[in-house]
Amino acid sequence: MAVALTVILLIYLANVQMTGQFKEYLVVQQMEMSQSGIQGHINDGTSTMTVVMGPLEETFLASVHNSLIWVGLAILAVGLAASYALARSITVPLRNLSKAAEQIAQGNFEQTVPIETKDEVGHLAAIFNRMAEVLATNTKLRRQLLANIAHELRTPLAVIQGHLEGMIDGVIEPSKDQLSSLHEEAIRLNRLIKELRDLSLAEVRQLALEKGPTDINQLISRVVNMLRPIADEKNIHLGCFLAEEIPDVTVDNDRMNQVFYNILVNAIRYSPVYSEVQVTTSLEETGQWLIVSIRDNGPGIAAEDVLYVFDHFYRGDKSRDRKSGGSGLGLAIVKQLVEIHGGQVAVNSEVGKGSIFEVRIPLDKEGRYSV
Ligand code: ADP
Repeated sequence: MAVALTVILLIYLANVQMTGQFKEYLVVQQMEMSQSGIQGHINDGTSTMTVVMGPLEETFLASVHNSLIWVGLAILAVGLAASYALARSITVPLRNLSKAAEQIAQGNFEQTVPIETKDEVGHLAAIFNRMAEVLATNTKLRRQLLANIAHELRTPLAVIQGHLEGMIDGVIEPSKDQLSSLHEEAIRLNRLIKELRDLSLAEVRQLALEKGPTDINQLISRVVNMLRPIADEKNIHLGCFLAEEIPDVTVDNDRMNQVFYNILVNAIRYSPVYSEVQVTTSLEETGQWLIVSIRDNGPGIAAEDVLYVFDHFYRGDKSRDRKSGGSGLGLAIVKQLVEIHGGQVAVNSEVGKGSIFEVRIPLDKEGRYSV
């Protein structure tokens, strides 16, 4: 509309201007002719002179008017086509985006919009697609997590329920053994719920930490001593190689204890009898990190599984009897606890050779990590 109005106005002004200029030209011509006896009449404010146009001049003026109108119409057509194309290149993608956004608002996260251009609109569409993808993945993960939690809780509860019903019906004799197995299930259930709670709080960075200066070597020695009896049962030698003069780190003692406990329990659990598990502490060359590595000679972890060991409920051996292993939350908790301390955890493993878990705890300039 604006384009059409502008073009029409321009044509009108050009026409008026053109007529005026042409008349002025004629006046000059006629003045020259009047000096040689030809009559004329001009109105220039002081004197009046009539402009007499012959058929030739009129035809010329009409044809110039015509050309101007045609040129104007051509400009109008091109302008309209260009502005329509421009408007379409913006409005169509925006309409697609708003439709997709509406779908997302209704909970349908599997939305993508076509990216047709490389300009700002295309950039916006690409960002939108990425956002929709992240939302869809998160929703899927949340659903999967809920299903896993329900599944994990159901098993111990079903065992407890079955035994209690058996006892009520008189099918199972309420012996001490029966009761202690029920007690064990209840403890497992309680532990699982506590782990889940800690994990979800750590993931949203809401887990309260009681930080204080901690000697990591001492902490490691305590965990190792605590686990020595279960290592001895499998004749596994627990070796400690602790670097001297390691500065204190400011961490939550209990949480860090849990980190090394979970990693060491796995190392012992997955190691063969008569093998060795080594715990080493060291300072990284740049002085930024304190490194604790735990090496075992277990079966190792396949390259395709390494990506998932820190995920919730990931278990290498899916068919494993739950009593022989953990909940599949151990390493997920390790990762979260290390990360809320500003640290990092990684695993290096080779099938058939063993695994090395490495925890990095940041040190500050004075050799002590602070928030
Ligand atoms: P789980 O309770 O099953 O041990 P984790 O989260 O602690 O759960 O470990 C997840 C999986 O990682 C285990 O099921 C196992 O397959 C693998 N894994 C962990 N530590 C080791 C290890 N030291 N050696 C081999 N595999 C391991």
